[in-house]
Amino acid sequence: MRKEERYKGVLNWFNENVPVAETELHYDNPYQLLIAVILSAQCTDKRVNMITPALFRDFPTPEVMAASTPEVIFEYIRSVSYPNNKSKHLVGMAKMLMSDFDGVVPSEIDQLQKLPGVGRKTANVIASVVYNKPAMAVDTHVFRVANRIGLTNNSKTPLETEKELVKNIPEEQIPIAHHWLILHGRYTCIARKPKCEECGLKPWCKYFLNPKKT
Ligand code: SF4
Repeated sequence: MRKEERYKGVLNWFNENVPVAETELHYDNPYQLLIAVILSAQCTDKRVNMITPALFRDFPTPEVMAASTPEVIFEYIRSVSYPNNKSKHLVGMAKMLMSDFDGVVPSEIDQLQKLPGVGRKTANVIASVVYNKPAMAVDTHVFRVANRIGLTNNSKTPLETEKELVKNIPEEQIPIAHHWLILHGRYTCIARKPKCEECGLKPWCKYFLNPKKT
């Protein structure tokens, strides 16, 4: 199957069957989303959503967070993975938001990546979810699902996957395509054993059509 045909089939299927796809993290503003995404590294959204209400209540702005210490923040986030590093990152991130960005979460990927705890994936999430930019954040689900379906050609790195997806998905669909692939990977095309029998992408999926070669 030609690549264009595969992309067209997959995107059409998602458009028709999953018209709404959003992050499962709870947040009310860009600052809260940035905190939630930093906390979600190597951790489930469900766990993050359990601890953020108290954190957002007691540290409602970057200014308040910047005046705190990692030791204080640690007590709020101790049940997520890597709480030591993440508490340092959150306070450092808030301090830099205040010192370099007037307390406003920036929209440019390179500026976002300057913030402590913010790598390329997190920067792409903020750029696309908050600012609706054509940025594709590649997490473990996006990476695996894109390779399985054949949207990427046995890509070896998240950056390779990101570039290939951005090149082939129409710009206006890139923000939602990120959520389509994550949710598909989380609930259907799961890592251990994909649920191919209930998947609507079978007609275009390289893995399904020829599992031995994938
Ligand atoms: S057909 Fe199977 S391998 Fe392909 S996307 Fe669906 S669940 Fe994943």
